[in-house]
Amino acid sequence: MPLKTITEPARQIPLYGEYEVVVLGGGPAGIAAAVAAARAGRRTLLIERYGFLGGMGTAAGVTNFCGLHANVYGEAHRVVQGVASDLLGRIDRLGGLNAPHLILGKIFAQAYDTAAYKIGADDLLAAHKVDILFHALGAGVVMQDDGRIDVLMLETKAGRQAVRAAIFIDCSGDGDLAAWAGAPFEVGDNAGSMLFPSMMFRLNGIDPDKAGDAWRTIPVLMEKAQASGTHRFPRKGAIVRPQKSGIEWRVNFTQLAREDGSAVNGLEPDQMTRGEIEGRRQAVQAFEFLRTVPGFEKSYIVDLPPQLGIRETRRVVGGYMLSGEDVLNCASFEDSIGVNGWPMEQHVAGDVVFKFPPIPESRGFNELPYRMLVPQGVDNLLMAGRCASMTHEGQSAARVSGACFAMGEAVGAAADLALSGNTIPRDIAVEKLQQTLKQQGAFIGRDQRVPDGM
Ligand SMILES: Cc1cc2nc3c(=O)[nH]c(=O)nc-3n(C[C@H](O)[C@H](O)[C@H](O)COP(=O)(O)OP(=O)(O)OC[C@H]3O[C@@H](n4cnc5c(N)ncnc54)[C@H](O)[C@@H]3O)c2cc1C
Repeated sequence: MPLKTITEPARQIPLYGEYEVVVLGGGPAGIAAAVAAARAGRRTLLIERYGFLGGMGTAAGVTNFCGLHANVYGEAHRVVQGVASDLLGRIDRLGGLNAPHLILGKIFAQAYDTAAYKIGADDLLAAHKVDILFHALGAGVVMQDDGRIDVLMLETKAGRQAVRAAIFIDCSGDGDLAAWAGAPFEVGDNAGSMLFPSMMFRLNGIDPDKAGDAWRTIPVLMEKAQASGTHRFPRKGAIVRPQKSGIEWRVNFTQLAREDGSAVNGLEPDQMTRGEIEGRRQAVQAFEFLRTVPGFEKSYIVDLPPQLGIRETRRVVGGYMLSGEDVLNCASFEDSIGVNGWPMEQHVAGDVVFKFPPIPESRGFNELPYRMLVPQGVDNLLMAGRCASMTHEGQSAARVSGACFAMGEAVGAAADLALSGNTIPRDIAVEKLQQTLKQQGAFIGRDQRVPDGM
């Protein structure tokens, strides 16, 4: 940070609005949180810095849902339902949803088109009468004397504005709101690094018949190319797979490090600037290699996303931190509000390391406790998504979209219960939250029957 500072003169800030629930961030967690709060009848505003919803799923070109499914004793089940099912239905009606595909022979993921995701999410929020404010960057808070958040400050093209709410929900992915409000947090592995970011991109112009199942052969070709010295790749474990039309493939190939070898930090604009430029450079390198793969000769880069893909930054500390052991041991919690069926997926220097619970011997998912969504120290705040209370290892699993949808739906419903009961989110009756979620079609684990099918 620069050593020189200036003093900003005090000024009057227009109040944009007063809401019962304000959600910061429109990724999978924020979408589900806003829908759940509004569905309960709460006046809800979702604030997003971009002009569209989807978070990393659209803004970073992820184009693939993980964690919607679990491998339950050797059988695939769609374990994330609720708001996610409504959104998937809308994406599918636009022709933007692939059939689920198997990863590593163990677990299913489901690809989508980013345009359909954006439109489907707009429709979903409109259907539930969520107010949206796009092109507004959350920039700070003003606190009340009792340690609650009074207003969230926004930077917009129309100048600085403030938004007041009874309950705020941090779905910024980076824990911005929680950090400004003074909630404790950890960053990455607490040793200066974090899960490594990637610049995603998509290729078009592929000959699907010739390419066949090239997602299997590409990693082998990469190893050969690296061994023969013709190419050097930033990481192993490249994921190159077809979108709905086989002429278009998504490429998850790159890895962004700092000069000292640690991960680019998504909280530092200077590092992000270099990461964006280096990410695009790596994308071109990957493209040049991929054009040597049969079926890819005439391909071209059809899309580079608006931003570098950030997997991990701040993790806000709540009443419980979901750990890697919880994921591997398929942990149960009395205050479960949803489940995570995705394994640990650690993006470490030069590689991607997957760690699964025993398959097919285990039920393949861990429950997500409500306590991981309630921060320490700030009474009118909840958080959901990749910045929820998890260890570095736990976050490598439950950061994916499926679990983020589940967490988001739970915090939206929890905010409503807190307001109905005139209490704070930390003190709501969790059994009532669980009952509400189940009634609304969510799967929360516990004694509930695992949903059938995909
Ligand atoms: C390269 C990459 C590949 C991935 N692959 C997969 C995959 O295949 N499948 C999968 O399920 N998951 C994948 N993930 C993980 C997944 O995309 C994210 O973890 C998930 O989107 C997190 O959801 P979220 O809602 O918590 O946060 P995010 O998706 O990060 O959304 C946060 C939202 O908040 C907004 N925001 C942030 N700060 C502010 C602010 N101050 N003011 C206003 N708005 C703000 C952002 O613009 C964004 O829209 C991948 C991630 C990356 C980076």
